[in-house]
Amino acid sequence: MSKNPIHIIGGGLAGSEAAWQAAEAGVPVILHEMRPVRGTDAHKTDGLAELVCSNSFRSDDAENNAVGLLHAEMRLAGSLIMSAGDANQVPAGGALAVDRDGFSDAVTKKLEAHPLITIEREEVPGLPPAEWDQTIIATGPLTAPSLAQSIAEATGADALAFFDAIAPIIHFDTIDMDTCWFQSRYDKVGPGGTGKDYINCPMDKDQYLAFVQALVDGQKTEFKQWEGTPYFDGCLPIEIMAERGVETLRYGPMKPMGLTNAHNPTVKAYAVVQLRQDNALGTLYNMVGFQTKLKHAEQVRVFRTIPGLENADFARLGGLHRNTYINSPTLLDGSLQLKSRPGLRFAGQITGCEGYVESAAIGLLAGRFAAAERLGHTPSLPPLTTAFGALLNHITGGHIVSDDEPGKRSFQPMNVNFGLFPPVEAVKIEGKRLRGKDKTVAKRHAITSRALQDCREWLGVPAQTAEAAE
Ligand SMILES: Cc1cc2nc3c(=O)[nH]c(=O)nc-3n(C[C@H](O)[C@H](O)[C@H](O)COP(=O)(O)OP(=O)(O)OC[C@H]3O[C@@H](n4cnc5c(N)ncnc54)[C@H](O)[C@@H]3O)c2cc1C
Repeated sequence: MSKNPIHIIGGGLAGSEAAWQAAEAGVPVILHEMRPVRGTDAHKTDGLAELVCSNSFRSDDAENNAVGLLHAEMRLAGSLIMSAGDANQVPAGGALAVDRDGFSDAVTKKLEAHPLITIEREEVPGLPPAEWDQTIIATGPLTAPSLAQSIAEATGADALAFFDAIAPIIHFDTIDMDTCWFQSRYDKVGPGGTGKDYINCPMDKDQYLAFVQALVDGQKTEFKQWEGTPYFDGCLPIEIMAERGVETLRYGPMKPMGLTNAHNPTVKAYAVVQLRQDNALGTLYNMVGFQTKLKHAEQVRVFRTIPGLENADFARLGGLHRNTYINSPTLLDGSLQLKSRPGLRFAGQITGCEGYVESAAIGLLAGRFAAAERLGHTPSLPPLTTAFGALLNHITGGHIVSDDEPGKRSFQPMNVNFGLFPPVEAVKIEGKRLRGKDKTVAKRHAITSRALQDCREWLGVPAQTAEAAE
């Protein structure tokens, strides 16, 4: 076995987990963390795996919630982030919230004590030298500027850090297709299209005027941090367009041209909200041109006034924040490796996942993949039916890249959610088809039990240990 170490740049959620997984697999690791030599705009300590904002890992319900399921899978995989989180839990109802200092201390101590891990407190200013033949970059949304610049040059992006205005994403099965219809504007087929690629939600004049007013009046998030970072390609928040004039949206993302309401062909819609398929499975649709900095509760309230979206369940709400991430679906292979430079992997938020737990989960996978290669094995990828696999697939391939928004970055960060999983067959109880809430709950249970079973098989974890871990 080669004793060459794996280098991991960044000791945040992803880098710490990656280091742990690789070392536990028997491979030496050098973890390079720049704090306290150099800080970021959000980190306050020199601890590894510092939580920069909330202290919550969100729901711990593995049966009904996708992030809870990811917790369970990570525990099965021997996650350091989960064991330190469990050991430092504070009361938070159904969520797993942690004492942030206790958590970060626990991670730091475990990594410092591991015989195969060396921690070097230094900034890595550019791409790794050639002799670092297995490296994981896990430098997060606040990657130090000089490394960000080198990554941008190597990946062909003009910029990696920007104000990121993101549009909401909706679960397809909560859209009322008796009101909405599938049609592309002017029935254009386009590359890979069918002429029916969008879901259209029609509005009459009164509905449109009320909607524009609600956008103008809606509560917005304050955004003072990092002012001066540019908007990406002028992808303006929708409420800013609404403020520019009552007709602006009707001549922009809500234009009704080239569309005929399949349910009511003789009545022309005054305005139309379009939704576009967001993942290859067709379970998620994004609201086209609906980048927004409305507060989350306001988004739910205002967007549910759109005809057809009255019961919409949002897989992700819109938002505005500084971020740094690469265009992973184009740049990375299935094991998170830069296609143009084998041996160099990315992990954490910089790959385009979103959230503490998701970042750590992608770190876990990257650490395992790099260690497998170092030991001369082909990395074993998690099944798509697991939370690990669903999230990895979103990053490395499941997302649909949009050709019709030139200049816009169509791949956007995402939390783990049930829309990323392959659908399950219709669920029946005692031969009866379920409807409404019962159907949603039964589908979730079917997805989560399938995921845990497949995850155990992938990890080779016997059922008894698995039950203890859940
Ligand atoms: C302001 C802010 C608030 C957030 N709030 C939340 C929240 O409340 N809940 C949530 O789930 N998610 C939140 N996120 C999103 C995300 O989950 C976190 O950023 C998470 O920490 C990402 O994990 P990571 O390991 O990818 O990056 P980080 O945890 O940020 O780790 C990256 C590490 O790399 C180091 N580093 C950077 N550049 C270099 C370099 N060149 N050389 C060496 N080391 C380097 C940094 O010091 C840092 O320790 C937030 C993000 C931001 C920016």
